[in-house]
Amino acid sequence: MTETPLLSIRDLKTYFYTYEGVVKALEATSFDIWKGETFGLIGETGCGKSVTALSVMQLIPQPPGRIMSGSILFNGVDLLKEPEKTLQQLRGCAISMIFQEPMTALNPVYNIGRQIAEVILLHKDLTEVPQKNTRNPITHRRIQRARKKRAFEKAIEALDMVKISDPKKVARQYPHELSGGMRQRAMIAMMLACDPDLLIADEPTTALDVTVQAQILDLMKELQHRKGTAIWLITHNLGVIAEMCDRVGVMYAGYIVEIGKTEKIFENPDHPYTRGLLRSIPLIMEERQRLEIIPGSVPNLITPPEGCRFHPRCKYQMDICKTCAPPLVEVEPDHCVACHRFADVKYSVVGEEEKHG
Ligand code: SF4
Repeated sequence: MTETPLLSIRDLKTYFYTYEGVVKALEATSFDIWKGETFGLIGETGCGKSVTALSVMQLIPQPPGRIMSGSILFNGVDLLKEPEKTLQQLRGCAISMIFQEPMTALNPVYNIGRQIAEVILLHKDLTEVPQKNTRNPITHRRIQRARKKRAFEKAIEALDMVKISDPKKVARQYPHELSGGMRQRAMIAMMLACDPDLLIADEPTTALDVTVQAQILDLMKELQHRKGTAIWLITHNLGVIAEMCDRVGVMYAGYIVEIGKTEKIFENPDHPYTRGLLRSIPLIMEERQRLEIIPGSVPNLITPPEGCRFHPRCKYQMDICKTCAPPLVEVEPDHCVACHRFADVKYSVVGEEEKHG
């Protein structure tokens, strides 16, 4: 790993102002993603995984959403302080995002090749095409046509890279003509066409059947290996995380509650919520009578519980848990937990190093 994180999120707080009340979706979320690594974010539905990614991309609908505070450093630049124009240049180029259902992300009225070519035209220097400024409208149109043609050829190359058979034909097809797996491949081709530094994949395989899931994951790994892209994988599929990720963060009700190396988290989780999550999945290698469940459900984030948001569901709760939110503390190198049971561990508070000097 390099010394400076590619993405560094600190104390990110995102709220949604609805008619029912203020939804406190993210509270003081802090974590890093390093160049070239695969980082997984897990947690139950509604715990804030997608809101974190959308906050980074600044795609939170405003209103009702609002990023209240915090910082999002990407390559050392605070995205929350950058103008929209800079963010537009970053999106799709330095940071790309794959959504769960490609059918809703692709434009139904343009063919696949044109949609990928558009991204290339926006973000890539097509240096092989003459760029000369001209006032002659005929020459200008000719140059534009040459640029579009070259971008379309590059779109076909991108489709070939994600192993779509007959990429020339697929480039001329529309999203509704492709299967779910092919649409997701086309999305990946579009996202990788500009060699992003960070690829955010929000439930990229949830809508696909198991064999296609495996192919898409292999493809992402292979492309990461080839291009050195960091992947931020958001999913509730723990099997996918175990197979793909170097490090994993566990989210609960807007907080990161545990973060560390994947083997460590899976073999010996410390936070009661992480333990509950991992014990609720069946292991085919072990004989087990009954799967454990986490009692209760994710709290309503308009009126979340005081203190540790997990306390109403936690069998280890203490008095302090009901009034005071536990900080994320480093319990061993590269392993942090937010739980009062680890309060007397000699720690550094993640996300508050600056305040402690
Ligand atoms: Fe349970 Fe308290 Fe730890 Fe929260 S802080 S997980 S309630 S023991």
